[in-house]
Amino acid sequence: MKQELFKKLQQITEQNLLDIEAHKQRGNHVVGFYCLYAPTELAVAADAIPLPLCGTRQAPIEAAEEVLPRNLCPLIKSSYGFAATDTCPFFRFSDMVVADTTCDGKKKMFEIMAAIKPVHVLQLPQNQDMAKSLSPWKDEIEKLVAVLEKLTDRQITPEKISRSIALLNKERRAKKRLMDVTQAKPSPLTGPELVEILFKTGFFADKEKGIDLMNEIADACQTLIEKKESPYTENTFRILLTGVPIGLGSDKVVKIIEQCGANVVAFESCSGYKQTFQVDETVDPIQALAGQYLSIPCSVMSPNPGRMEMLTEMIKSFSIDGVVDLTWQACHTYNIESFHVRKLVQDSFGLPFLHLETDYSESDTEQLRVRIEAFLEMI
Ligand code: SF4
Ligand code: SF4
Repeated sequence: MKQELFKKLQQITEQNLLDIEAHKQRGNHVVGFYCLYAPTELAVAADAIPLPLCGTRQAPIEAAEEVLPRNLCPLIKSSYGFAATDTCPFFRFSDMVVADTTCDGKKKMFEIMAAIKPVHVLQLPQNQDMAKSLSPWKDEIEKLVAVLEKLTDRQITPEKISRSIALLNKERRAKKRLMDVTQAKPSPLTGPELVEILFKTGFFADKEKGIDLMNEIADACQTLIEKKESPYTENTFRILLTGVPIGLGSDKVVKIIEQCGANVVAFESCSGYKQTFQVDETVDPIQALAGQYLSIPCSVMSPNPGRMEMLTEMIKSFSIDGVVDLTWQACHTYNIESFHVRKLVQDSFGLPFLHLETDYSESDTEQLRVRIEAFLEMI
């Protein structure tokens, strides 16, 4: 049953590029997004397809290093490398790029990327004190509305934004439902399977198609849970992966953990559970978007208590046996915030904790394996 669903996922993924092309031929637009903070609802309200562009592959990094410092986060180098080498179809399809001033490396990279493609950068406040930060952030979102209206020549009315919020809330509910199937003990999905589903459904031109597929997979998983069919046993160690985002190509740590016999059941990152929020559909749509997106608990926020709250909740609901905190090399915010995560995991839960710092290359695979094996022995 799972095999058939993965085959379907692959077919829709291949069809998706044609769907995006057809959408553009009908006179519509595509907007690339670099971070979780920019509300993609606004692109949808302008009949544009929003595409996540953060690079997850090693291949374009060498080209990026001709321009960017080598000692930079691989996610930033991969993102820029794809743009510079014109090797990402989703970047090529994008009529413009929407980015935000999250970490220093990313915001300075966008200045250079602007020579390749029009880039609009949102000035993201660095803390979530709503009394001070909400109003300037709302202004940034209103500016983005004007930019997208100009690009697409469509009016983005409050009604259209409200409809987009409802659609994307539905998508986030489906994503959460899918991620929550691994709360079952044992889990019906492997960590790499969940990474693949989340990654591929993120690019779907037709949101409803993606929602239907995620629900179909969640239904199938429910059946597997009822039949007690799983690649694991009730005693398999259940790992929560927190920290930087991962995707296909940057998921080596997930694969190694699973090869060592444990199961990564939960992903607390912006490629995972941080995407499960709901935007309030009962208040002014711009106000609702501004408040909800600003609350995203990424380590670029100082302080960032929301991440500790999310971790607390997830450790309990996913019956976690150990936590791995992943930092990309040269990512200062996640690297330093690991201090608080370790404290929470060890002091409040008494669970084993492992902090890993790596990049997208395979050069340290064996070193990582040794550290992960030693960590699993502690459980
Ligand atoms: S970790 Fe933070 S800065 Fe990096 S892509 Fe995710 S939301 Fe953006
Ligand atoms: S992983 Fe860290 S350095 Fe890399 S883009 Fe995200 S916040 Fe920036």
